[in-house]
Amino acid sequence: MAIKKGDILDERKRHPESCGLVVKIMGGGAGFEKVVCCGHDLTEDDVVAQMGSPLGRRKGDLPLAVILDEKKLFPDSCGLRVMVMDGGAGFKEIRCCGHSLTLSSVQELEFGQLRGGQPEPTGQPGFPGPPGTA
Ligand SMILES: [Zn+2]
Ligand SMILES: [Zn+2]
Repeated sequence: MAIKKGDILDERKRHPESCGLVVKIMGGGAGFEKVVCCGHDLTEDDVVAQMGSPLGRRKGDLPLAVILDEKKLFPDSCGLRVMVMDGGAGFKEIRCCGHSLTLSSVQELEFGQLRGGQPEPTGQPGFPGPPGTA
């Protein structure tokens, strides 16, 4: 059993006391192993039909609506793509195809284009796309 496109993993499903990381699978995932957050392993057992309440989730350094794309880092991978939807204070890494996708890989991918400013949670979660130029 593996995850597939459209699956939503909610850390709260099995760990109510966690930061409440929610990620959505955008593609790939044949080699998916787990998401590590707050010391928990999130697997296909944490797939939910829909995201639970956003109340009490703790955001970390992980920007919302950012997509971790395994293929950009590892061209020969299954091409797992995961979008962060909420929470993430305790996020550590995503394991797939024996690779490790971490926050630093997100920063390399996404923040390189955002010069001269710190990422702020004032965007529009749920609407991934090019940031508007202020
Ligand atoms: Zn967590
Ligand atoms: Zn993979």
